[in-house]
Amino acid sequence: MTSIKSHLATINDRIRQAAIAAGRAPESVRLVAVSKTHPAGSIREALAAGQTVFGESYIQEAREKIAALPDAPAEWHFIGHLQTNKAKYAVRLFELIHSVDSLRLAEAIDQEAAKRGKVQRVLIQVNIAGEATKSGSAPEAAAALVQQAAALPHLSVEGLMTLPPFFDDPVRARPFFKRLRKIRDTITAASPHIRLPELSMGMTGDFEAAIAEGATLVRIGTAIFGDRS
Ligand SMILES: *Cc1c(COP(=O)(O)O)cnc(C)c1O
Repeated sequence: MTSIKSHLATINDRIRQAAIAAGRAPESVRLVAVSKTHPAGSIREALAAGQTVFGESYIQEAREKIAALPDAPAEWHFIGHLQTNKAKYAVRLFELIHSVDSLRLAEAIDQEAAKRGKVQRVLIQVNIAGEATKSGSAPEAAAALVQQAAALPHLSVEGLMTLPPFFDDPVRARPFFKRLRKIRDTITAASPHIRLPELSMGMTGDFEAAIAEGATLVRIGTAIFGDRS
């Protein structure tokens, strides 16, 4: 077994155990293998081991790698900060964009999706802790942004994403995951026509805590592909 294959087996097992411990169906959690900074060859190894969903953070890097894997049965997700002027590439390359954090960006994506005759699936990123170094909508602004983005004809808003502060102890990240779920529940309770089934939360250090709080997409890089240099 390659190490990527064995790491994937371990992570998938931990995801399954965490879901069961939370009383959830293991299939309700999908693994996004975060391949940013890792070469196409590593993605090929993960594909050979059965992994299909990949997360990338940088448009230029993703363009090159996706072009190098033309026939791969892969579903590409964009998880990084997206500049409005790169919306065109994001719409061209990605099935799901996790990081919509402003109406301006949502409108740019909508326009590009319209040009391509596509309905772009997106998540709204929420900056729960209000960290200056991280992007994301303020929690108080998330409901309005979801409503405005959901009204755009070529956007399908499918859930929320967050990136909590880094803690050595994942137990400390858990309240942030719970908060994202509550923000989602509040929005959908107030607007029953809006469905937000996806919660993108949890990384290598804290994905089990995120699954305990309802994560449906966990974004894991280091535990699969190793350290990023
Ligand atoms: C890099 C990155 C990840 C993966 O982090 P790991 O700790 O390597 O698992 C997840 N989410 C986002 C938004 C990232 O930028």
